Order: sequence, then C-alpha cells, then structure tokens
Amino acid sequence: MSIVKEMFGTTANGEKVNKFTLTNKNETEVVLVEYGAAIQSITVKDKNGIKRDVTVGFDDMDGFENRSDYQGVIAGPYANRISNGSFKIDGKLFELDKNEDGVKTLHGNGEYSTRIWDSVITNDSSVEFSYKREDGLFGYPGNIEARIKYTLKDDDSLTLEYRCVSDKKTFINPTNHTYFNLGGYDSGDILSHKLKINADEFTPVDEHSIPVGGNQKVENTPFDFREFKEIGRDIDVNTEQLDNTGGYDHNFVITGKQKEMKEAAIAVCEATGITLTVLTDLPGIQFYAGNFLKGTVGKNGLPMNKRTGFCLETQYYPDSPNHPEFPQCLFAANKEYKSTTVFKFGLTE
Ligand code: BGC
Repeated sequence: MSIVKEMFGTTANGEKVNKFTLTNKNETEVVLVEYGAAIQSITVKDKNGIKRDVTVGFDDMDGFENRSDYQGVIAGPYANRISNGSFKIDGKLFELDKNEDGVKTLHGNGEYSTRIWDSVITNDSSVEFSYKREDGLFGYPGNIEARIKYTLKDDDSLTLEYRCVSDKKTFINPTNHTYFNLGGYDSGDILSHKLKINADEFTPVDEHSIPVGGNQKVENTPFDFREFKEIGRDIDVNTEQLDNTGGYDHNFVITGKQKEMKEAAIAVCEATGITLTVLTDLPGIQFYAGNFLKGTVGKNGLPMNKRTGFCLETQYYPDSPNHPEFPQCLFAANKEYKSTTVFKFGLTE
C-alpha cells in the first residue's frame, strides 16, 4: 500500500486543494481530493488487465467548482431532498435555504460538497477528511464536526467511515455521490450494466422527487432488481414513478437488520468484467441512473451525457425529517453519528 499527497489544483479564489493517491498491491488506485472530500477516480484492472477509471467526473478543479452534478463528492449535512426546505425538531420549525426550484432543499444546499476539507493520512491505507460546519448556515441547525475516512485494502475494497457530532440536536445524513461506469468513464452509457439490489421495497415519490409517504413493493414493477437485470431494460417503461423522475432516481429499502453491514447492491459490466458490490449499515440506497447528466465536460474533455454514470448513494431515506414512518437520523447533542459503506471491486468469473 502507498499514499502520495500532491497538489490537485486551486479554486477560483486561489485556495490550494490537495489530492491523495492510494495504491494497493493490485495497482488499484483511488484518488481523493480535499474539495468535497471527494473520490476523484478509482482505477481498477479489467478482465484483460487493462486499467479503467470507473468513475465519471472531473480531472480539474474547474470541473468540481463550476460543472458539478455532485460527481464524487460528499453530500450533506442532509443528502437528497427535504420537502419545503423545512422540518421541526422538538416542535421548533427550521427553515432552510431552498436550492432546488426555490421550493425544496437538495444535498444540504451543496454545503459539504463545496468545502475544502482538512485532511490527514492516518496510516498507510487511509486518509481522513474533516470539516466543521457552523450552526445556522443555510438555516440548518448544529455546529457539526463531520469526518469521513477512506481506506483502500488489498482486496480492492474502499471503505468509507463516517463520524459526525453536533453540539445541538439535529438531523445527520451524509453520503458519497460517486457516479460509476464499470466500462470506464469514457465508455458511453451504463444501460447494459446488470444490477442487483437487495430490496423488496422502494420509496415512491411525487413529480418533485419528494417521497409521497411509506414504501411500495418492487414486485411486478420496473423497480424489481432482486435478480440481476440490465439497468436499461425497464428504465423507460411508462409508469408514474419513472415518469416523475425521468428514470431511476429512488431510494431502495435495503433488506436486513438495521445497523448491521449488509450487501445492498451489486453492479456488473460484462464488457470489462468489472463488478462493484456496495455494502452498508445504513437503511437505504439511492439508485440514481444519471438521468440529469446533460453533456457537460468531464474527464479528458469528454461530455458526461445522460446515463453515462450511475450512483448508489447509501443513506437514510430522502425527506425522513418529515416522515416519521421512515428510520430517523435525528441525533441528540454530542451523540455520535457513525456509519460505514464499502465499495468493493472484483471481476466476473
Ligand atoms: C438525486 C438526483 C439528483 C442528483 C444530482 C441524486 O442524489 O437523487 O435527483 O439529480 O443527486 O444532484
């Protein structure tokens, strides 16, 4: 294992941003950057030994700052949407900034994803990023100290360990927003990838992508990924749920015990043989098929077109502060939020 720290670039304001390159014995390489505590690239060997960067995103700071659809970054303090940009804690109403259509909040108003996080190499395979947010920023309560530690192991797993503590009772729900393409970032759309999601239910949403309440069985719907299925097979089937979001962009309810590590999803690209298994102790996973990517310039000057990457964002369900029927992520002052997600890479047999 080795970790090399170098300069990645400078922001428009002239702030320096470092990157860390983690390499294991298989020459699997993960590049992390301080801006957004992001995964900038993950390079693994395919079935023919050819190295492929399997993440869609940017190779420069300008991309992260000016063309971002949250590629690779940490979203938070509350990932995904909060309806009306408001919630109550102990009867007190909190009104947040509404960065989506002026009516709702998405990904914590981009707070975690646009900050330069502090960083430290904690051992020969781990880098930990930390960021202290200020109480009240974007209307969101709590001075939160957020940490994410990335560890690359020789089994080609990348572990993400989140630890957050607030000085006030608040909701805590960070996630990583990497767009994967197991054919390589430059291989076109992800529709022929096969996907399996360990979920009997998903969370239906309205036309604003806000949960309508409760969960729905995946059985007999395009959301049934309990057996491997091509992402593209049913993505454009004419149903209210897929019409509301323009393709898959939904929370799946991971089957299994709360707070225990579970296999949440497996994605396979047959052309390269590269597989990705996502494990987590969180209750949900947002499968987003990159429907809103619209050709902005990414790595190597190539356009990131619609559905050229997919996200598997482990999380508490969207808008859970306004849905008492969902698992809750309201943490008392000084009570630590802890969660672990693993992205494990492999090859088909
Ligand atoms: C959301 C999408 C959104 C994307 C980029 C995903 O987590 O579910 O609706 O377009 O993030 O912001």
